[in-house]
Amino acid sequence: MAFSRNLTADETLQPGAQGRPGMTRREMLRDCLLAGAGLAIEASLGGCGARQRGRKTGVPRGWHEVSHYEKLPGNRVRCGICWRACEVGPGERGQCGNKENRDGVYYSLVYGKVAALNVDPIEKKPLFHFLPGTSALSFGTAGCNMHCRNCQNWEISQRQPEQVHSLPYSPEALATLARKHSCASLAYTYNEPTVFYDFMRDTARLAREYGLRSVMVSNGTLRRQPMLELAPVLDAVKVDLKSGTNDFYKQYCDGVLSPVQETIKRVHGLGKWLEVVFLVIPGLTDGRDNIAQACDWLLSAAGADTPLHFSRFHPEYRLKDIPATPYETLARCHEQARQAGLNYVYVGNVAEEEHQQTRCPGCGRTVIGRSGFEITAIHLDDGRCRYCHQPIPGVWA
Ligand code: SF4
Repeated sequence: MAFSRNLTADETLQPGAQGRPGMTRREMLRDCLLAGAGLAIEASLGGCGARQRGRKTGVPRGWHEVSHYEKLPGNRVRCGICWRACEVGPGERGQCGNKENRDGVYYSLVYGKVAALNVDPIEKKPLFHFLPGTSALSFGTAGCNMHCRNCQNWEISQRQPEQVHSLPYSPEALATLARKHSCASLAYTYNEPTVFYDFMRDTARLAREYGLRSVMVSNGTLRRQPMLELAPVLDAVKVDLKSGTNDFYKQYCDGVLSPVQETIKRVHGLGKWLEVVFLVIPGLTDGRDNIAQACDWLLSAAGADTPLHFSRFHPEYRLKDIPATPYETLARCHEQARQAGLNYVYVGNVAEEEHQQTRCPGCGRTVIGRSGFEITAIHLDDGRCRYCHQPIPGVWA
């Protein structure tokens, strides 16, 4: 029942990110970024630190003023989108590399500039309790506000807009394309959507008018105010909880744990559908204590019914020297999370399907069957287990 409909050549995209049985999420992302989007990556990695750009005047066509920032003396600005709150001088860029201060006005360089685009199964996000078997028109841009050493999408996330071949897509064009391909939702993904906030928000607003849902696939760093502004047109959020401790965030992601925790609590508090992904990296995040800390925290912050996906690490980018996560480790994490009290725990990026099924916590029977990204069975009636009538949390219609 799950399906993947790729975009046609006349939509300037090539096939390649289609879900194949047994295909890992990593393989699909790779296809999507390098083939499905049909976009060439043109320049070598340039880094994403604060950037001195020199004196520049005028505003290039297509730049879009950022909605959340503060003007400071001396034509400086302070960005209000993510936890970094970058203070940016004239001619400089913020840490995400895709916003620039031009004469005291702060601009996004990636509004309407799509660097990756595809029709994906919603299960690929991964969202397992949100409209199973439907598809999401998924897109991203250049730039990111974290610099994870294991990034799977570094070809666009760790590059400046000028270094990535992007194509122009307005919110209207994306919503129209989503309807054309019978998508139930739009997904803001591939790079961190926080860094293309205005483009995401405007697309989500339009998507709502078109009868489409919106899904944010995030590292959990959007600040409170923009999140509250986005919330009315947001339907589901997947947040990466990369570790139970701040050390890993600092050392391997150039990030901080606390804003992520705040986001998870905020999304849960707003009543948006929330699922959490934990990437299990051998020797870095797979320790029993770390897993216990993450599970206990999630349980207390967002409750036992928040789905938690343990995802398999593959050697990538700057962590090529670490081997892929053994399945036994993932199975142990699954067991630990279940024992901690979480009701819906999954294992992803693996061929084994044992821990990809949704089982009713009441009677233990499978209520949603999955094979790869394909839905094989749904035994729910009005959001309840067909066998014992236990409510199963999620967005089912
Ligand atoms: S969105 Fe970019 S510019 Fe704004 S605070 Fe975050 S990293 Fe800095």
